[in-house]
Amino acid sequence: MVTKTGLEVVQIPAGKMKNFSYLIYCPNSGEALAVDPSFGAKALLAEVEERKVNLQLVLNTHGHNDHLAGNEEVLAATGARLAAHPLAVAEADLLLDEGMTVTLGDTAIEILFTPGHHPGHVCLHLPGALITGDVLFVTRVGRADLAGSDPAALYHSLRRLAGFPGETLVYPGHDYGPKPVSTIAYERQHNPFMRCEDLESFLRLRMG
Ligand SMILES: [Zn+2]
Repeated sequence: MVTKTGLEVVQIPAGKMKNFSYLIYCPNSGEALAVDPSFGAKALLAEVEERKVNLQLVLNTHGHNDHLAGNEEVLAATGARLAAHPLAVAEADLLLDEGMTVTLGDTAIEILFTPGHHPGHVCLHLPGALITGDVLFVTRVGRADLAGSDPAALYHSLRRLAGFPGETLVYPGHDYGPKPVSTIAYERQHNPFMRCEDLESFLRLRMG
């Protein structure tokens, strides 16, 4: 699928926990970024090979093992550098934080700091699309009862994603919904967590 300004996003099913891994690249320059290799390292590497792209970064949305699994295999095979928030992977080569950008060709990808499910969670904003990790799934939201979770922070991160234009594509970290990709408009309509009008009703629904 090609986003508005031309970055390609390849969604890769990755293992029995229904993770999604992503290969994002600029078709003009061939510069590429992998998100959460997860249990799909081999499939991800096959996509890199087939599309003849130059993998520059492996980026983790957060520090849970089902997303980090596969990092080493992909890094070793490609020479890419690792990028993550310091609270996710303290020893990453590139430490991410709110407002940073990662560039593929001429296109900037904006890093959004979105804690709540995990204290070191980031989402990616590329033109016309969001990579939402374990903050937002199609019609669902990430867990907020894990070590390091903060339910109120998750609510605020979700509200922030809800504020993007309706046509923005949503690429989630797991295939937990009725379809693998949606839009912010679809989530505003069909996601009961995004429909919560205040923090109290969100907490009741998420934790109750
Ligand atoms: Zn997670």
